[in-house]
Amino acid sequence: MMIGWIIPPPKPCTKTPPELLQERLEKVGELEAEGFLHSPRLKAAMLKVPREAFIPPLYRDYTYLEVPLPLPGEATISCPHSYPLFYEALELDEGHRFLEVGTGSGYGAALAWEVVGPGGLVVTLEIDPETFTFARNNLHRLGYDQVVIINGDGSQGYPPLAPYDRICFTAAAPEVPPLLLDQLAVGGRLIGPVGKPGQIQDLVLMVREDHRKWRRVVVEQVAYIPLRGEYGHVPG
Ligand code: SAH
Repeated sequence: MMIGWIIPPPKPCTKTPPELLQERLEKVGELEAEGFLHSPRLKAAMLKVPREAFIPPLYRDYTYLEVPLPLPGEATISCPHSYPLFYEALELDEGHRFLEVGTGSGYGAALAWEVVGPGGLVVTLEIDPETFTFARNNLHRLGYDQVVIINGDGSQGYPPLAPYDRICFTAAAPEVPPLLLDQLAVGGRLIGPVGKPGQIQDLVLMVREDHRKWRRVVVEQVAYIPLRGEYGHVPG
């Protein structure tokens, strides 16, 4: 069976900035009440980062709905609860060196930047050139100039700045990409969807226990667009 998300129809944005801010506050409260969100740094990040600024104008009214929304290129911004789902399981925290594969809108990178803070590092890779340009503009417009954003195949990681304390990939891979496991620091954590496109996938968490040993845990069932590139489902 093919599964997928129903995307609401594009329409001009009618909500004012204060209305969207109010929706953001409500969404954060909801994510806390539902048990998705508990760490104070991530909560502060989700309150601060204007998700609406990462969404194309014709979908902006839907910013705080639990659906992924289309982006320029072959990409979507994931639904709001997926960020605490990933980042809480990762135990993302201050000072971490963080690698994201699949920048999409740049929203996930902005949240991560707020969590790791100036003593940490955020590196994010986007394979689609159009999506990459969209994300880079969003990050720069909002002042996230220190996020390292690269147009390239993240399924191979990014060796120049490895190792990373935390890694996430935000598109479904056939298996956890091996070079990402190599680029994970000992004691580090990695998360991402593993499975076939168009089907329910396992959200897999890997914890690197020592140089040769990774522990694998399935955290949740999810539905993501396919990872492209060398270790993806489709060529880059
Ligand atoms: N985290 C994003 C959502 C990403 S959707 C956000 O916050 O908006 C998944 C993204 O992964 C898409 O933008 C897609 O183009 C990108 N992608 C797919 N395969 C990739 C690869 N091998 N390397 C880098 N990005 C990839």
